[in-house]
Amino acid sequence: MFFTASLWNDLMMLIGEITVFLIVGMLIGSVLVMIVAGLSIQSGQFYFPRLMTSGMVLLEGMIKGMCRFFGFDDKDLIQFFIRLHNTMNMKNFVETPVEKRAIFLPQCLRSARCPAHLTPEGLSCRRCGQCDIGRDIDRLQAMGYQVFIVPGSTFMKRIIKKYRPEAIIGVGCLMEVKEGLELCDRIGMVVMGVVTMKDGCVETVLNWDELLEIASTGVTAPDSQ
Ligand code: SF4
Repeated sequence: MFFTASLWNDLMMLIGEITVFLIVGMLIGSVLVMIVAGLSIQSGQFYFPRLMTSGMVLLEGMIKGMCRFFGFDDKDLIQFFIRLHNTMNMKNFVETPVEKRAIFLPQCLRSARCPAHLTPEGLSCRRCGQCDIGRDIDRLQAMGYQVFIVPGSTFMKRIIKKYRPEAIIGVGCLMEVKEGLELCDRIGMVVMGVVTMKDGCVETVLNWDELLEIASTGVTAPDSQ
């Protein structure tokens, strides 16, 4: 027989040792990522941003499990991941001309009495004054942005395919933004995420100053002031 009993035992031992080594490595890696993330959140400074981004992606499941086990809210960690991601993408975002950027707003930001109609490119805002979209959409467009108010990711993908922006700002709830960032990373698109202040399906709330601050980055036109 090609495999003798002792060779088989040795192979099983080796597989077992490698498995234990990997699990211990992942545990240590997850603890380190959590510690560095905690320190970064406390100090407001990102330590080892590239390593942290890779670590967060690779060890996401384990980090979330550990957060739950120790009773921590993993939302803080996701927020941190989004901020880290924005910081990493900032250079490429700034270097992208504003005419090649687009902003995607979720339709849940609008008023429950919104009179806008849905078109193949999302909602066409009528500037009725019942929500903040109508107040700031002209300002963002005057900067040079294409702004879309979309009901979901299917619209977003279709619009991206049609207009081919090189950089986008995606607004949404925590999980939407996180998943959007990961999707854009996979297709190699520069993306900045802005998380809404109140989740839900109707009349959600956005920190418009945060959006305007990101949108103004690298925009030199007088309209951006
Ligand atoms: S301002 Fe625009 S998006 Fe907001 S409620 Fe009016 S039409 Fe709808």
